[in-house]
Amino acid sequence: MMENLQQIADLIGQCTDCDLHASRINVVPGEGDPKAEIMFIGEGPGQHEDRQGRPFVGAAGNLLDEMLESIGLARNAVFIANMVKCRPPGNRDPQTDEILACSKYLDRQIEVINPLVIVTLGRFSLSKFFPGEGISKVRGSIRYYEGRPIYPMLHPAAALYRRELKETIYQDFKALPSILNNLRRPTLTESQSEHVITNTNEPPTQMTLF
Ligand code: URA
Repeated sequence: MMENLQQIADLIGQCTDCDLHASRINVVPGEGDPKAEIMFIGEGPGQHEDRQGRPFVGAAGNLLDEMLESIGLARNAVFIANMVKCRPPGNRDPQTDEILACSKYLDRQIEVINPLVIVTLGRFSLSKFFPGEGISKVRGSIRYYEGRPIYPMLHPAAALYRRELKETIYQDFKALPSILNNLRRPTLTESQSEHVITNTNEPPTQMTLF
């Protein structure tokens, strides 16, 4: 039987597989709709997230909430997770060994939720699927990883530090509803797909019509 998200969260709560467990107040497994069409993956908990055990509840979270609202999406209609489930001390970058130790949980969450699209926020979650890709090059366009659409975006915290990036993030967000609509379309028949032009790097079974 497949696990559920609570079972995964319980395992995370007991995890001591990397050094981050030693300094955490709370684990931050992630939260949202277990049947979400959109799954956001950030980097890792900061101070507020560590205190509350919830993802994106600090300044970057406020911006994420604002952006969700701007496209009419409720926070509880999506799922929000992170690459690492415990706060890196002093908000330093998560290290490769920490990301690796934690990836089993994220992989299981993705499997259970099975979202229509994964939105990566920032370069760490981008590199889970597309290592070596530059975020400024690939942001705002769908790419496929093992058949699953991935939509890379800048990290909302970037917009807090660099105001000019806020517009870019908003733009990418605004495109999400129509991206979802396209992905929701039923698989085309073979004769129909002959006429489909796709501008993605890997032709999906659910085609996008332009
Ligand atoms: N930044 C992240 O990447 N994740 C959080 O949960 C909060 C801030």
